Amino acid sequence: MAKTVEIVEVSPRDGIQNEKTLLPTEIKLELIERAVAAGVRRLEATSFVNPKRVPQMADADEVARRLPRGTGARYVGLVLNPRGFERARAAGIDEINFVIVATETFNRRNQGVAVGETLAAWHEIAALTRQAGMRAGVTIGASFGCPFEGEVPVERVVTLARQLAEAGPHEIALADTIGAAAPSDIRRKIEAVRDALPGMPLRCHLHNTRNTGLANAVAAIEAGAVSLDSSIGGVGGCPFAPAATGNIPTEDLVYMLDRMGIETGLDLDGLIETAAWLGRQLAISPPGMLHRAGRFPPPAADAQVSAAG
Ligand code: ZN
Repeated sequence: MAKTVEIVEVSPRDGIQNEKTLLPTEIKLELIERAVAAGVRRLEATSFVNPKRVPQMADADEVARRLPRGTGARYVGLVLNPRGFERARAAGIDEINFVIVATETFNRRNQGVAVGETLAAWHEIAALTRQAGMRAGVTIGASFGCPFEGEVPVERVVTLARQLAEAGPHEIALADTIGAAAPSDIRRKIEAVRDALPGMPLRCHLHNTRNTGLANAVAAIEAGAVSLDSSIGGVGGCPFAPAATGNIPTEDLVYMLDRMGIETGLDLDGLIETAAWLGRQLAISPPGMLHRAGRFPPPAADAQVSAAG
């Protein structure tokens, strides 16, 4: 099993985009600053989509222009079409994340076009990104289950991954958009894509909708994923699963990985503090558990141990 895993913090995008409370730009920037101060080195900062469809992301250009620089952190912007790409490039984003959904119905609901058209758009975006000297990654949404079509076959995901890989992404991600997967599903699909595309870095995007999120994270790492998306506090929901909780909570994930001896480079205390802070900003109690329970051993016990020599 890997000794290190890269955590991609997605609270500023996936985490808050489905929250009812619209956060001011200053608060979004503070969230990003806090995440970076806690050691985050790759962060999905915003999405360059139609503000009418996603009001929380209406200030994407300003957020991107004011991102904290000189910290070693790399910032990702979600882009779905050439216009979004142009906005992201102009605002100085480092890396593009493009999304295609594994099923026709969900892709049409999410992007308004058939999967084939989204695939063509990805090839265009990937070419533009390369010309601009930026990195482009691509996420396959609903890889583990679709709210409209149900089960998603392994072959479907593998075929799509192969077609996406032809455009030369730096990374492919499998997303459990509606939080349907169990660890065995995660293992089967990541291994299948890994075998089909040897050497392609794989990321996994998990939602904790049915409380399988952390178990799925372990399965993803065991199967060869090198990066995991997570969100501080586990904030966020899914417009297609109304009672859903958000992404897997970064601090809960880091606590678990720390104890497993897997390095993330993130500071647990900073993450816990930020989860509580973010909950206050959104006027919610974030679904993550560590910010309530505290870490173990408690910080005070650490101090006693060192005081006792
Ligand atoms: Zn998501």
